[in-house]
Amino acid sequence: APAPPPTGHHFSDPAEVEALRGNLLAWYDRCKRDLPWRALAATEPDADRRGYAVWVSEIMLQQTQVATVIDYYNRWMQKWPTLQALAEASLEEVNELWAGLGYYSRGKRLQEAARKVVSELGGHVPRTAEALQKLLPGVGRYTAGAIASISYGQATGVVDGNVIRVLCRLRCIGADSSSPAVIDRLWDMANALVDRSRPGDFNQALMELGATVCVPKAPLCGECPVKQHCRARCRKLFGKPAPVPDVEDCGVGDCPLCPPATEPWDSSLGVTNFPRKAAKKQPRAMRTATCVLERRGCRGGPEYLIVQRPSSGLLAGLWEFPSLPLAQDLQEEKEREVLADHLQAWMGQPVAAKGLRFIGEVIHIFSHIHQTYVVYSLPLDGDVTLGPASSPSRWVTEEEFRASAVSTAMKKVL
Ligand code: SF4
Repeated sequence: APAPPPTGHHFSDPAEVEALRGNLLAWYDRCKRDLPWRALAATEPDADRRGYAVWVSEIMLQQTQVATVIDYYNRWMQKWPTLQALAEASLEEVNELWAGLGYYSRGKRLQEAARKVVSELGGHVPRTAEALQKLLPGVGRYTAGAIASISYGQATGVVDGNVIRVLCRLRCIGADSSSPAVIDRLWDMANALVDRSRPGDFNQALMELGATVCVPKAPLCGECPVKQHCRARCRKLFGKPAPVPDVEDCGVGDCPLCPPATEPWDSSLGVTNFPRKAAKKQPRAMRTATCVLERRGCRGGPEYLIVQRPSSGLLAGLWEFPSLPLAQDLQEEKEREVLADHLQAWMGQPVAAKGLRFIGEVIHIFSHIHQTYVVYSLPLDGDVTLGPASSPSRWVTEEEFRASAVSTAMKKVL
């Protein structure tokens, strides 16, 4: 009969660690996806360009799927192949290229950091995770580790959502994986596990495993290159683990990494018992009235008025149709009135509420906001002269609108 699975959450056997590294890297060499930033990281001889290429990819990949990022990444690297080129770009250009990728502050901070590298660091990307995190705005612990290991071969681990899932399953970590104490242990584990001779490949392999095999809902355990090291799979196959006396942190009741006693192992979930997270906060509901002001342009086609958002906060510096946040419980008639008042104050000319045509509602989910845009349209005969205190504004054709730095939500509104 097969041996019962060991308990404990460490990788304490050096021979097992060696085997795990070997199996994972061999699988990565065979199965890794062909991605443009990987090709650049492997072939670019200039160290600063290599660091930059990985840095851009890592920032774009935060919160965004690989398939979406590829096209943006290629366009970005074509337009700004070096840090120096990016440092000379305007925020408007950055926002235009970033439009549709979401989490717009990422692009803004990437450009600020590029300017800092050029003006304060002699154009050289810091070479270690510690220096990257300390010196570059927008570069946190994960991104710093990824750049340092992939571009510069520093033997430092990384912990992102994929790594959390894989490590929690490999070692049956069932405590809240978003808690700082568990995250610290996962970082210790990632730093101990990383392959010393191929740290960048090892980190990418661990993330790739989480993205393609050890996926959240239905992991492909049968195809997994590290299945023989996986305690969650062992537990699924053999049932309750036998206690091992020399495991220091996995006691009977108060292990900080085991599932809480109130939510024990659920055999119907199998390996997806891990990881566990505290319940997410519900996104805040918001309603915003937005008005598409339309006129006939000089070439006969319609033109739309867009205004620029403030340079800080949500969707900073992006362009949108004139918009106004609404109280939650307003009646439709009242919403129309407050929007008309807002437009009137802004344009300095009378706007009748009944002239606003209700078009429909557009729902867009930001990370923490469930936003409903209540969309109106208003045809105009002539131009609109805004007061000097108003935000910058311009008339655009539909084609110009689509090429502008506008959010996905505004494209849906149009
Ligand atoms: Fe994930 Fe299954 Fe592999 Fe374990 S065996 S690491 S659960 S895919």
